[in-house]
Amino acid sequence: MQPRKEHGLTRAQRWTRCARKRRWADALSATAGALAVMETPHPPEELYVYQCPHCRGWHLTHLPQAGQDPVTLSAYTLTKAGELRSVQERKKHAKA
Ligand SMILES: [Zn+2]
Repeated sequence: MQPRKEHGLTRAQRWTRCARKRRWADALSATAGALAVMETPHPPEELYVYQCPHCRGWHLTHLPQAGQDPVTLSAYTLTKAGELRSVQERKKHAKA
């Protein structure tokens, strides 16, 4: 008998790809979560954030995401107001 599929995935696949993972409500929260992981003593080499097609929340992955740079500590900075900003974005703002 075939395993029952929900949204094209078996329950086991859905577990490893979605339910098992920590979920964030938006990209910025996920990025903050990724940065926290990168600050641990043994961080992964690369970490990416992506929107989950199953729950529409955001998860972290080690797999490179198309058109996206990995989340690195040097790529993000906190503003005086305590907001998370990408360094690149800040440079863009500085030029304008
Ligand atoms: Zn998910």
